[in-house]
Amino acid sequence: MFPLASRHYPGSYDELLAWFPDDDACRDYLDWLRWRDGWRCPLCVSRDGWLLASRRRECARCGRQTSVTAGTIFHHARSPLWVWFAAAWLMTSQKHGISALGLQRALGLGSYQTAWAMLHRYRKAMVRPGRERLRGHVEVDEAYGGGDEQGVRGRQTETKAIVAIAVEIEHPKGFGRSDACVCSTFLTSPRTA
Ligand SMILES: [Zn+2]
Repeated sequence: MFPLASRHYPGSYDELLAWFPDDDACRDYLDWLRWRDGWRCPLCVSRDGWLLASRRRECARCGRQTSVTAGTIFHHARSPLWVWFAAAWLMTSQKHGISALGLQRALGLGSYQTAWAMLHRYRKAMVRPGRERLRGHVEVDEAYGGGDEQGVRGRQTETKAIVAIAVEIEHPKGFGRSDACVCSTFLTSPRTA
């Protein structure tokens, strides 16, 4: 099944806010993603259970309690889930991504560290473990993410992320696999935090 915008995931930021006004809505969505064929106890695979007030599910057969966020990157997350969802949108929907400072401002987060940790957790999750290195003829370039910064040129950036991009060049077909890494997001400190 191919995921469709506005059907399987929000098609716009406005839609995202409408779909996920609170954490219960986010949990319902995670429920649907995780247990599309219906919930099963991870311990005894029974299908009989009930939802507790804490939003955890309790198995009717063995009593095991499970939470839809257990084992996901949202496990023990301190920020509300709807903030995490909005952060994921802001991070992936913009051509140049978003810096921790940008995220902090966009979502009105209490601290720069919260925004930084959130982005870091997402980026870590987006790296496929065990992936192979790029091979053959590889071209490398760099780009700057985070919008315009007044009076600043090139590598003088203080708030922007320098993104190194490497692409396998396959002749005669064109481009092969690509890889990108954010070099400076975590190394530079924002001018205003
Ligand atoms: Zn069970």
